[in-house]
Amino acid sequence: MAEIIDGKALASEIKEDLKAKVNEYFIKHNRKITLAVILVGENPASKVYVNNKIKATEYVGMKSLSYYLPETVAESDITSLIDTLSEDKSVDGILVQLPLPKGFDEEKVLSHIPAIKDVDGFLAENVGNLCLGKKSTVSCTPLGIIRMLESKNVELSGKHAVVIGRSNIVGKPMAMLLLQKNCTVTVCHSKTENLREITKTADILIVAIGKPEFIKKDDVKSGAVVIDVGINRTENGLKGDVDFENVKEVASLITPVPGGVGPMTIAILLENTYNAAIRRDELGL
Ligand code: NAD
Repeated sequence: MAEIIDGKALASEIKEDLKAKVNEYFIKHNRKITLAVILVGENPASKVYVNNKIKATEYVGMKSLSYYLPETVAESDITSLIDTLSEDKSVDGILVQLPLPKGFDEEKVLSHIPAIKDVDGFLAENVGNLCLGKKSTVSCTPLGIIRMLESKNVELSGKHAVVIGRSNIVGKPMAMLLLQKNCTVTVCHSKTENLREITKTADILIVAIGKPEFIKKDDVKSGAVVIDVGINRTENGLKGDVDFENVKEVASLITPVPGGVGPMTIAILLENTYNAAIRRDELGL
């Protein structure tokens, strides 16, 4: 029976640690570290994520600026807002909640955020630096997963890590981080043949596809570490991409949904914002 990795508890530890550091920063600089969040449209899941992010930002003592824009807003109004926040020295991080409603050019909108304020780690400069193994702001979900693995002292070097999903925000940066940790990495996706044969060879299996309970007990090697990124709203409540109840019988470590990867994503967002503030001070920006 697998041990459960409690993402909620680990995220709480990170937030408590940050709370102290954010307070020290305030005493030293007489200003609150500030995260600006932009939400366009009425997507209910996005609203929940944004509210959770705002609550957590304020919990650790940072200032939260939130901008709720209607779906009818002109793209140029979003980019002007980002330009203003980019120039504003009191703002440390800028986050545009994705996905943007249909019709907006996400890449173009995000490109207005300066790399140093890109606390989501989505910009080409940050992704490129990650690929080159240079210092960069890394996408929150994959970085949170590495922290979860480290919290359980999971041996990564030389192990076979299988990542299912190749999105720019989870799958691809996840693969890069695991490669940096000396894993042998296989990335699977919707066109992968014999996917369920490949998953059975994984020492570490990371599932980020958005299909409820897609990975079954028979797809998992005995003793594997299973990380479930999926968040699926079903009529039976929130479900991950992994059939948790059955897979936990064969895995050695497993993350639950909810209470696994989700809370870690937010904790790392706050850590990225804190680090952005420190780096801006170092660079005199
Ligand atoms: P996405 O929706 O952008 O892409 C899905 C990926 O899954 C694609 O790369 C696709 O090739 C792959 N895929 C789809 N069907 C597949 C199949 N049958 N077999 C193999 N691969 C398949 O992905 P995303 O934005 O990375 O999100 C994935 C899931 O993770 C979603 O449920 C999302 O809600 C969740 N998510 C959770 C967090 C968190 O903090 N917990 C953060 C981001 C995303």
